Amino acid sequence: MRKIIVSSPAAQFLFAALLICGSVTFLFAQRKERLIEAWKPTHFDVSIVFDRGLTKLTSATTKIDIVTRRSDVNVIDLDFGSMPVSSVLVNNAPAKFTQHDEKLDVQLASPAQKDQRLGLTITYSGTPKDGLILSIDKDGSPTAIGDNWADRVHNWIPCLDHPSAKASVRFTVTAPSDFTAVANGVMESVKPSPATAVKTWVFYETRPVSPYNMVVAVGRFATGELEGTSPVPVSYYVPMSEGKFAEKAFSPAIPAIITFSNLVAPYPYKKLALIVGATKFGGMENANTIVFSPNYFNNFTTAPGRSKKFDIPKSTEDVDAHEIAHQWFGDSVTESTWADLWLSEGFATYFAGLFLEKNEGPDVFREYMRGNAKSYLEYEKKRRAPIHDIQTEKLFDLLNPNNYEKGGWVLHMLRGMLGDEAFFAGIRSYYDKHKDSTATSEDLRAALEKASGRDLKSFFDRWIYKAGHPVYQTSWNDAGNGSITVTLKQTQPDEAFLQPVTVEIVTEKGKQRVTMEPKSKETTITVKSAPPRAVMIDPDELVLKEVVN
Ligand SMILES: [Zn+2]
Repeated sequence: MRKIIVSSPAAQFLFAALLICGSVTFLFAQRKERLIEAWKPTHFDVSIVFDRGLTKLTSATTKIDIVTRRSDVNVIDLDFGSMPVSSVLVNNAPAKFTQHDEKLDVQLASPAQKDQRLGLTITYSGTPKDGLILSIDKDGSPTAIGDNWADRVHNWIPCLDHPSAKASVRFTVTAPSDFTAVANGVMESVKPSPATAVKTWVFYETRPVSPYNMVVAVGRFATGELEGTSPVPVSYYVPMSEGKFAEKAFSPAIPAIITFSNLVAPYPYKKLALIVGATKFGGMENANTIVFSPNYFNNFTTAPGRSKKFDIPKSTEDVDAHEIAHQWFGDSVTESTWADLWLSEGFATYFAGLFLEKNEGPDVFREYMRGNAKSYLEYEKKRRAPIHDIQTEKLFDLLNPNNYEKGGWVLHMLRGMLGDEAFFAGIRSYYDKHKDSTATSEDLRAALEKASGRDLKSFFDRWIYKAGHPVYQTSWNDAGNGSITVTLKQTQPDEAFLQPVTVEIVTEKGKQRVTMEPKSKETTITVKSAPPRAVMIDPDELVLKEVVN
């Protein structure tokens, strides 16, 4: 998603206080994630019925197909919020259950063995505390929109609320017939029931979707389908009064689908719906059913910093491209754990940049990457942590510049080191191997190593699993015989970054470039050169760095 929330000042204060107290490493325990253990879901059938004003679910039934992963499973421990459950069936037979602490424990009549398939049917009703946001839109009309990141979907769908627990999903949504409903997947049917003035929509997504990407949106929308040659239909659902902006604001959508299809692989799903409504993020990338912030159209016609190609705010082009890039990275290939979140957010950040590079030109792309570097460097002054963060407890605090901006820069550096051909070949094979599934940072490393023939272990160790960035300082000496010795120092407090760095030597007679290959924090190279007027580090801006005099 596009973040609009920064980590809490309280957390930053605590970190600063701990730094003053001394070493922090022993003070933080490893975050415990809700990983798949005894069982995993394979399919969800979610049927929900709304009341007339979209203020509650008058009834809801979720059928979950699961498979056990070990023997002697006695309890299926679903995550579920506080709506009261009226019944649970296991393979159509009533089962005992208990609700406690956002859990729904279902007792099995007899212990399940490994690889046993079970069907659970859970019936409930009420007003979800979170996850399915029941509110009013800009025009004062009721809406119901899922907004689940990171682990809020269990407030309205019983599940295993972790990104790795992916499953196909069918939504059956019944709402008053003057509303429109949309959900993940392809619409299978819509049936009006004139006697009760309701309609029932059925949407089915056959590809596995992470819990946080399962969504329905119900409201009184201005809707339409974007014109243009697209591999899949692209439609929009926005507040009635903002319908006039939709086609223009979403005009980057089809070009983004085509750009990423060419760079990576065909678009993973059969449709794309673009919704404006209740999300707490700038945009939320739910599989093929993206929800953008209610502020999406604010200052749409007047905001400065406009896209030359689309004549819309650059920020709109950025968020459109970012959420669409997530359809490949985050939605189809999902982070295995929250520590791998950069595989979602760093990719969406970088691929949005690649879209800008293509449409707005290399200068705009450079400016975008500089802005990203600045955000990360500011953040890093307050908090030093690796991208692969196994400690941060609050998942919302992971929406930080390590996962977004620094993650994007890691991809940019890899592209610079490996060259476009090997880099994109590696990205394509990574995607092919892990689409409709999950991936780790090590999976990405393996794919890029195979495509490039390079050993990237030390690069990943330094950039993904450790904190910080290089702080470079250069100097030169006359080495006699028409040569100079250039020294590259790394002055950051922690260990060296060993990737090659290009240095440009500028003399009266012209420029020459040399590649320095650090083995430690100080590297020298002797070059035939007249005394330089300037020595520039990384002239193509391919390394995330600071430079000091
Ligand atoms: Zn994102």
